[in-house]
Amino acid sequence: MPLIAKVATSVSKTAAALSRAAGRGDGSVIGGWIGLKIDPDLLAHLASGRAVALVSGTNGKTTTTRLTAAAVGVLGRVATNSFGANMPTGHTSALAKEGHTPFAVLEVDEHYLAQVIDQTRPKVVALLNLSRDQLDRAKEVAMMAQLWKTTLAGHPDIRVVANADDPMVVWAAGSSPQTTWFSAGQRWHDDSFVCPESGHPIERSGGDWWCTGCPLRRPRPQWVVEDEGVIDPRGDWHLVKLQLPGRVNIGNAATALAVAAEFGVRPIEALPRLSRVASIAGRYAQVDRDGRNIRLLLAKNPASWLEAFDMADQAPTLLSINARDPDGLDTSWLYDVDFSPLRDRPVLITGDRAFDLAVRLQVNQVPFRHVNSFDEALRSVPPGRLEVIANYTAFQDIRAELDRVN
Ligand SMILES: [Zn+2]
Repeated sequence: MPLIAKVATSVSKTAAALSRAAGRGDGSVIGGWIGLKIDPDLLAHLASGRAVALVSGTNGKTTTTRLTAAAVGVLGRVATNSFGANMPTGHTSALAKEGHTPFAVLEVDEHYLAQVIDQTRPKVVALLNLSRDQLDRAKEVAMMAQLWKTTLAGHPDIRVVANADDPMVVWAAGSSPQTTWFSAGQRWHDDSFVCPESGHPIERSGGDWWCTGCPLRRPRPQWVVEDEGVIDPRGDWHLVKLQLPGRVNIGNAATALAVAAEFGVRPIEALPRLSRVASIAGRYAQVDRDGRNIRLLLAKNPASWLEAFDMADQAPTLLSINARDPDGLDTSWLYDVDFSPLRDRPVLITGDRAFDLAVRLQVNQVPFRHVNSFDEALRSVPPGRLEVIANYTAFQDIRAELDRVN
């Protein structure tokens, strides 16, 4: 590395450590920011010489990144941004902190994918899904897909691992000559009713889909979720045992296996490592308190709320909604979510925007009760499981109340 990059790396690590010592989070954003101020090419310098995989998409990227890092770890040390700091400052900090590793697996905010590809020259890029998110600031889904498509067309050397079940992803990945397809299912269809190529309706039947006006259709996937396992490209089925709940996480595991396979890792080697992942930055964490077993599920946008309902047990459920800066300020997305799966269980609501949620639940005919704090929620349910589904800062608030569980 050039001298300037060495200095920048050292300062970046020190700044991150100071920030952690001061109790201001994990320090990855400030550390990366300072490092990039000193050497604007620091991310490129730090990535050079490593085999890099990038993971991007609207939902599931933190979990899939964690699982992929575990799988690639079969081969050697892996640098990764495991706390979800998924912009270039976070990547810079993660690589600086880990020192030299042969591998890096990085979660990338979908808006930054082009920039991070240019700087890290990845071997593999995994594309999970695209759906509406943070209405006050995120790009429209079709614009995001176009950005990815243009980016990948300029990098034909990159191996793309992409979700065959999401028409927007298939269209975006279609510009790459080297694509491995996985099928992990797609519960949310509301952002892909119209073909991004021709504007015709997309039809669906079973797991298949096709455009009614042009050749865009679901490609045949090489990796497929089936029952509690995954079928690999040779046709062998592998049981996937995870501590993480839900079919959606078996899909995330399938993606991780597909990415790791591009590095030469066999499923049979990776699977025991996947089964040891218990929680990711508090997500899926279970905490016992006063005879209640509390499980934390993060849901940030309509597609991830549907997935959370699928993962949650039939048990009392606390929903918490904030609309602070990291959440997006616009809560009209609540009307994109069908809350009716919760009708048959006791529902509690809290958070800064609990009353927005209250109106939505009333329209959706879901009975609920408002509580002023997490503590009050805990006292108003019987001993046993309490499911907690919260959006980003609401989730962090509850984690803080539970003494930063992990
Ligand atoms: Zn079409």
